[in-house]
Amino acid sequence: MSKEIITGDNDVLVVIDVQNDFCPGGALAVPHGDEVVPVVNRLAGRFRNVVLTQDWHPPEHLSFASTHPGRRPYETIIATYGAQVLWPDHCIQATPGAEFHKSLNVPHASLILRKGIHHSIDSYSAFYENDHMTPTGLVGYLRERGLTRIFLAGLAFDFCVRYSAEDAHRAGFTVFVIEEACRGIDVDGSVAASRHNLAALDIPCISAQVLA
Ligand SMILES: [Zn+2]
Repeated sequence: MSKEIITGDNDVLVVIDVQNDFCPGGALAVPHGDEVVPVVNRLAGRFRNVVLTQDWHPPEHLSFASTHPGRRPYETIIATYGAQVLWPDHCIQATPGAEFHKSLNVPHASLILRKGIHHSIDSYSAFYENDHMTPTGLVGYLRERGLTRIFLAGLAFDFCVRYSAEDAHRAGFTVFVIEEACRGIDVDGSVAASRHNLAALDIPCISAQVLA
């Protein structure tokens, strides 16, 4: 997709989880995750409307392998709502790992949405928790503000960005994923699977260069 996209008042940049634990040196580092920071900072300047999300778990969260004796990170368990990948402990509420990367600079962001706050349910998507039913409230916030096109950036491409894109699409928003503003973690081919699913839903992965 190379046609120029002119951004305006009804557009919002949603920046997913650019937090210390998802960057190199963090508890659940996405390879090269920190490289999105300057890209996001530049991009944010093009948008009047920006929302930041923050993965924000209580200690002993269901998604932590350490919560399940004998389980290791990256194994899958069956939770009440279906399959759940187990992760290293990460983004625990009010810890340094949960803070935004220190160089993330988006002072005009209007909302910081925290997700994954309930002990027994994970939330990859910024819109619905992993049961695909429990809303975070973001759909309502964006609708009330008349924001209809969502541009997604952040970490990780193949989990929280992907599921946010899919849920936003199902909720009726027009969605774009900004390729160079995302990095993937790639568990068992999850990057390729994400590209496949996004393409199947006609959700374009665009270059930041087409934004005007
Ligand atoms: Zn998490």
